[in-house]
Amino acid sequence: MTTIAFIGLGHMGRPMAANLVRSGFTVRGFDLVPELCEEARAAGVDIAGSAGDAARDADIVLTMLPAGRHVLAAYTGGDEPGLLSSARPGTLFLDCSTIAVDEARSAAELAVAAGHRPLDAPVSGGVVGAEKGTLAFMVGGEAADFDAALPALEAMGGRIVHCGGSGLGQAAKVCNNMILGISQIAVAEAFVLGERLGLSHQALFDVASNASGQCWALTTNCPVPGPVPTSPANNDYKPGFAGALMAKDLGLAEQMISLTGVDAQLGLLAQQRYADFAAGAGAHQDFSGIINTIRAESAE
Ligand code: NAD
Repeated sequence: MTTIAFIGLGHMGRPMAANLVRSGFTVRGFDLVPELCEEARAAGVDIAGSAGDAARDADIVLTMLPAGRHVLAAYTGGDEPGLLSSARPGTLFLDCSTIAVDEARSAAELAVAAGHRPLDAPVSGGVVGAEKGTLAFMVGGEAADFDAALPALEAMGGRIVHCGGSGLGQAAKVCNNMILGISQIAVAEAFVLGERLGLSHQALFDVASNASGQCWALTTNCPVPGPVPTSPANNDYKPGFAGALMAKDLGLAEQMISLTGVDAQLGLLAQQRYADFAAGAGAHQDFSGIINTIRAESAE
């Protein structure tokens, strides 16, 4: 029986851990917030007294934490023994958090130096995908370690892609979300321009969704109410994917753009727009709500 230490039982982690339990894994979880531990316990997760306790004798140590600094701190520990020193040598270290490529590579180097087998495996699909077990996993690391992690990933996900060596799962995530951030703004700008020109939302949707403007930001996450009844625009822009998370992911894209020197002007503009959006009410709205900012800032 495979035992998984699951560190970080928040919005994503708790349902992911519950799916592992449902698939027959023994899951030993830990979160700094006791209420979240109790919710996970109700879903069949054994709760450990600390992250280090959860990792002891585990076959896989899975982290689902807010940002890179949390992952590195949990790996190395502070006053308490960290995950790397608590786990037995040869343990699979599966980080599913969204963090920077260079942070993922640092985490992997630390894990290898401690005798472990690291994989970066960020996800897309949000809380709904985590609950349904349909997350997409983008994985970086050794092929043999990817194969060993596959049964656990399949318990939580639908589409699982091995993207290459360490950090390349995070690279795929940051590139995908940069496309998404830019295209959601492009679709929103087009709808506001159409409004000014007297074009109905439905007419623009009917044309663009069957023409070369077709994309997920239009056909699934349509930023105006009506054409796609399930899009957040029909539900007062309740997320969905919150503006704060898009701002975080584009912040990672910005770091990688500056590290590599790529001339990604639209990626940087999208990062700035979402940083502003998330600094206000947009933090807790679906990121398609950026259309309201575009409308409000358009000249009368
Ligand atoms: P969250 O803040 O709800 O959960 C993170 C949890 O980690 C919190 O409960 C926090 O208490 C816990 N934590 C922090 N440090 C800890 C430590 N040292 N030991 C134990 N627990 C600790 O965040 P989330 O929405 O679940 O997202 C987790 C990760 O997944 C993030 O990197 C996020 O960018 C990524 N992600 C989120 C979504 C989404 O829709 N929420 C989608 C895709 C990817």
